[in-house]
Amino acid sequence: MKFYVIATPIGNLEDITFRAIKTLKEVDLILCEDTRVTKKLLQKYEINTPTMSYHQHSKISKIDKIFEMIEAGKNIALVSDAGTPTISDPGSFLVSEMKGKFEKEIEIIAIPGASALVSALSISGLPVDQFLFLGFLPHKKGRETLFKEIAETKRTIAFYESPHRILKTLESLKKHIGKRKVVIARELTKIYEETVSGSAEEIIEYFEKNPDKIRGEFVVMIEAF
Ligand code: SAM
Repeated sequence: MKFYVIATPIGNLEDITFRAIKTLKEVDLILCEDTRVTKKLLQKYEINTPTMSYHQHSKISKIDKIFEMIEAGKNIALVSDAGTPTISDPGSFLVSEMKGKFEKEIEIIAIPGASALVSALSISGLPVDQFLFLGFLPHKKGRETLFKEIAETKRTIAFYESPHRILKTLESLKKHIGKRKVVIARELTKIYEETVSGSAEEIIEYFEKNPDKIRGEFVVMIEAF
């Protein structure tokens, strides 16, 4: 029995490996964070495999159902809406439960591909031999403490951010890290892809002058010192 964790594109639907497409065609079932999102990818590559939703609010009963299918000998794939599943996306609990229940009876196989994190770091121009990834920052509790930790961390730091919070986050960075360099990668692989670098203050000015660019998906990176 095989369980595949498959990376899918982060925007441009051509960013998918031959192996990912072949596997998505061959498995018995694809678990999707959102079946409607994944359907677009499946249609493009003429993949007719049945899908089922598996997301962060899925109940334990859904996991039991998945396990029943595995016990019946089915091969299953997991995808998220974009990028590599489990990286700030659903799936790590499922993988952990699966390892606990099936141990050596199941092969858990990664089919690597796009991830916004690695793509952003690769074009950041920052030293990325080592980095600290913070996922999404907390909205309230622990947020101030985390910014203090960021200010003290000497490594390159990366985190995901939404357009609704990017200015607020840049204001906090301005307060806590001063002139330390920040790089923002926005809308990677899409039409309005861009990277913006400078101090947090300079980037705030840039977005204030270009409010139409406070849109889409962002990875924020902070230079090591
Ligand atoms: N697991 C995914 C991965 O490996 O890329 C990340 C999932 S996380 C829920 C989604 C966040 O990733 C977005 O809020 C944004 O911060 C970042 N992201 C996803 N696609 C992106 C893109 N095309 N350009 C920049 N950031 C992106």
